[in-house]
Amino acid sequence: NSEPKKEDLQRIIELMDGFKASKALFTASKMCVFDLLQSRPGLDAGQVAQEIKASAKGTECLLEACVSLGLLKCKERTYQKPAYVNTDLATRFLLSDAPFSLQGYIWHCNDTVWPLFSHLESAVQEGTNQHEKAFGKKSKDMFQDTFYNNQAVKLRFMNAMHSIAKVTGKAVATAFDLCGFKTACDLGGCTGAMAYEFTKAHPALSVTVFDLPAVIEMREHFHPLQKDNRVSFVAGDFFKDELPKAELYILARILHDWPDEKVHLLLSKIAHACTPGCALLIAETMLDGQTAYSALQSLNMLAQTEGTERTERQYTDLLSKHGFGDTRVVHTTNFLDAFIAIKM
Ligand code: SAM
Repeated sequence: NSEPKKEDLQRIIELMDGFKASKALFTASKMCVFDLLQSRPGLDAGQVAQEIKASAKGTECLLEACVSLGLLKCKERTYQKPAYVNTDLATRFLLSDAPFSLQGYIWHCNDTVWPLFSHLESAVQEGTNQHEKAFGKKSKDMFQDTFYNNQAVKLRFMNAMHSIAKVTGKAVATAFDLCGFKTACDLGGCTGAMAYEFTKAHPALSVTVFDLPAVIEMREHFHPLQKDNRVSFVAGDFFKDELPKAELYILARILHDWPDEKVHLLLSKIAHACTPGCALLIAETMLDGQTAYSALQSLNMLAQTEGTERTERQYTDLLSKHGFGDTRVVHTTNFLDAFIAIKM
């Protein structure tokens, strides 16, 4: 019964406090604190409170929490009121218009994932997603029933996917030598952010983005200035409709949304569309190694979808049943791992 070690205590407190840190980040992001301090660096808490239309007491607490988390810095503390500025981390990832902005994903975490996670106990007991408990809606297909039947929720979800795809896209697009392929189809390619990373990285490649009609109709919203005519968009349902022909199929963060039966249905359609030598590139976070990121992401899939994250072995087995082999994996240093298999 010796006294607890300081580092053990620190570690456990850090874990207990994780949700407070997440919520402080989400709240500052939703209240646009980082954008405000980028355009007007050095405001004090009272000035920030006025701009974000919040209480002086609450704003001061929130700003100090952001300082403690390394998201804001205090320029002046000695004689005057503390003046706040963004840290490099905030400037890089938290501004709405930063090239690697994660704002879309953070808002999705706040508005969708957080309510779902508050029912994690039920998710674990029942082994199912928690849309009904969190949002009062039974959802057979979370995309069509939950995310896409309300314009604001749809845009929020698409913004979330767009921001992650922009941050991870290059690492996935450059994981393998794809110079043998001229045509690709990004199934569930959402806003096209990943597809544009592929055409940027591979000058001879054209990519068709295939997604549900509700998503494809929003494409202009995400690329108003985009001039790359090597990216095209086709609307359809990948479980029901014919897939566009391509030499390379891309599934980025698609299979983790679905249980094995649906994965088999999709893979059989892709296998049917492929001739020998065609390839399938999967981007997911693989459970191997059990980093906290992929294990927690699997809990996220449990609470949010019908799917799960899987191991490299599980993907290899699923694919081998559809005639794909010669698999290779690259563990990128980004959120996603890349996995490629060839149709035999
Ligand atoms: N691939 C994108 C990425 O990595 O950012 C988006 C991943 S998101 C988790 C899943 C995507 O699959 C969404 O864009 C969704 O609209 C699309 N999707 C879901 N069900 C679909 C279906 N039945 N047919 C076509 N696309 C579908």
